[in-house]
Amino acid sequence: MSTSPSGAGYVAAIDIGGTKIAGGLVSADGALHNKVERPTRAGAEDPDEVFAEVADVVALLAADPRWAGVDRVGVGSAGPVDITAGTVSPVNIRAWRDFPIVQRVQRLPQIAGLPTVLGGDAVAMTAAEHWRGAARGFANALCLVVSTGVGAGLVLNGRVYPGPTGNSGHLGHITINLDGELCPCGSRGCLERVASGTAIAAWAKAQGWRPSADSGPDASAAAVAEAARAGDSIAAAAFDRAGRALAAGIAATATLVELDVAVLGGGVLRSGELILGPLRRHLTAYATMPFTRDIVIRAAELGTDAGLIGAAALALTEG
Ligand SMILES: [Zn+2]
Repeated sequence: MSTSPSGAGYVAAIDIGGTKIAGGLVSADGALHNKVERPTRAGAEDPDEVFAEVADVVALLAADPRWAGVDRVGVGSAGPVDITAGTVSPVNIRAWRDFPIVQRVQRLPQIAGLPTVLGGDAVAMTAAEHWRGAARGFANALCLVVSTGVGAGLVLNGRVYPGPTGNSGHLGHITINLDGELCPCGSRGCLERVASGTAIAAWAKAQGWRPSADSGPDASAAAVAEAARAGDSIAAAAFDRAGRALAAGIAATATLVELDVAVLGGGVLRSGELILGPLRRHLTAYATMPFTRDIVIRAAELGTDAGLIGAAALALTEG
C-alpha cells in the first residue's frame, strides 16, 4: 500500500542548502515549474541577511501568474531541523540556530499565513523519490543522499516517516566502527566518516593516492572516481570501502524496520557502479536475515530537483 500526495493548485516549494536557496512551483502531479535560485549567504552573521535571500526567492516566484494558484508552502532545509518547533539550525549556515523559518516564511506578504510545512533535506529527497522517483510504489524505503555528508530518510508502511522532530533516518551518524574516529557530531566511527565523498577522498589520500597532475589539487570523490576508472587500486579500494559501509548501514536499517528498497542519490552516486557494485556485493554479507535478503538497490532519479519536489510532497501530505 502506498499513499501519494494529492491536491489541486500549486505548492510554493523552497529548498534551503548551504550553498544555494532554491524555489519553485510544484503542481499536483509533481511537476516542477519556474525553478529559481539564490546563493546562500552562509557566512553571514545576521540571520536576517540569510533570510533576505529566501524572501527574494519568494518574490521571484510570486511574479509568476501561477502564483495565484498557490495554496500551501513546503520548505526543505539542511539540518538539523525541528519540525515541531518550525525551526532550523543548518550546520553550514552559522547565523541560523533555532531560526524560526516557518513563522518567518508565513509572515512574508506574498504568503500571508498560508499553511507551511517544514522538512529536513534528506526527508524531502525521500518524499520526492517516493512520489515521483525510484522509490515509487514501494511501501518501505530508505533513501540516501551521499555527498559531502550522508543523509537519509525513511518511508514506512507507505508514508514518509520524519519522526517527532523531522530527523528520523539520520543514517550518516550511526556507528559502524566502535573504535572509529571521532565525528563532529560527537560520536565515533560514524558511517559518514567512511562513505561520504569527503571521506572517500580523505581515505584515498591517506593511503598515498594523489590526484593526477592535470586534475589539479582537486581531491574530491569525483577525482578519486576518475582514478579508479583508470585502474588505480587505492582509488578503487576507497569506493569499495564506502560501498561496504553503506551496505552495512542499509542492512542494519533493513534488519530494524524491514525495507523493500534502498535508493541512493547525491554527488557520490555520479560514480555509478563504482559505488553501487561494491555496495551490492557487500550487502550479501550483511543483509543475511531472510527478511532482508531481497532488498532492491536503486539509483535516485530526481537529481537536484528532489529537494523542491520533496518539500512540495511533504506540504501535500503533512499539511
Ligand atoms: Zn557522526
